[in-house]
Amino acid sequence: MIRKILGAMILSLATAMPGVADPLAKDVFGGVPGPTGGGAAAIGFYSKGCVTGAAQLPESGPTWQVMRLSRNRNWGHPELVGFLVGLSQAARQAGWQGLYIGDMSQPRGGPMVTGHASHQMGLDADIWLLPPPSLQLSRKQRENISAVSVVNRAGTAPSGNWSPSHMAIIRAAARDPRVERIFIDPVAKVAMCQMETGNRAWLRKVRPLNGHDYHFHVRLSCPAGSACQQQDAPPRGDGCEEAAEWIRNRIDPSRVKPVPPDPNYRHPRSFRLSEMPRQCQAVAVAR
Ligand SMILES: [Zn+2]
Repeated sequence: MIRKILGAMILSLATAMPGVADPLAKDVFGGVPGPTGGGAAAIGFYSKGCVTGAAQLPESGPTWQVMRLSRNRNWGHPELVGFLVGLSQAARQAGWQGLYIGDMSQPRGGPMVTGHASHQMGLDADIWLLPPPSLQLSRKQRENISAVSVVNRAGTAPSGNWSPSHMAIIRAAARDPRVERIFIDPVAKVAMCQMETGNRAWLRKVRPLNGHDYHFHVRLSCPAGSACQQQDAPPRGDGCEEAAEWIRNRIDPSRVKPVPPDPNYRHPRSFRLSEMPRQCQAVAVAR
């Protein structure tokens, strides 16, 4: 099967990228309009991988709308699609109309021409932190509407947009056994640390990350039958002290010891197709 795909690959690679022997992976994956058929599998790693047999989250449903349709990134492993539909129903129970869903993956995953280092295996999704004012938005509105920040301008405390419903939705996500991690601004994490009066185990999955105050990012574990590399588990404990430390460092940046950037780091946008996992090279160009 794979050998057959690899054979077809060389043929269609020449067609897809004439004159380019080893194109950038982002250009190949970013240019494929649809998924491969067959069984679903996530392959590789979140920041260097792909997905076969991806499913498309419908553009609109009773409890969700996909935003920025022009990006064609509402694809994922069927387990992610099922998870998002369920979470949008939980959002309804938390008092919202549903959810606005941002980027998932491209039809076959892989590196993207813009944004994200991860989101490559159909297991990551960005979810807006904006309670939907309407689930009847037009395509154009979905291109133009902006989310709102749940964090104040200084990055030190929640803004007026933060609410207990946000926490109810994120807690529902974190308690789902399919979920591996959730990334959100440390201010939101600390707010939830303070608000939680019951079982705190779910807070361990919620990890602080800059750039996640307009949306939160949900990452699923490797589903059964997939050939992906599992991420190391988060450190033990609820992680609340670590998140608080991030905020103290924002207030007083002189506390932070500068860490030299890793000279070997490369953004996935620079990956050549030949550097992707072998199976992904075939997925990228399979007919
Ligand atoms: Zn994301």
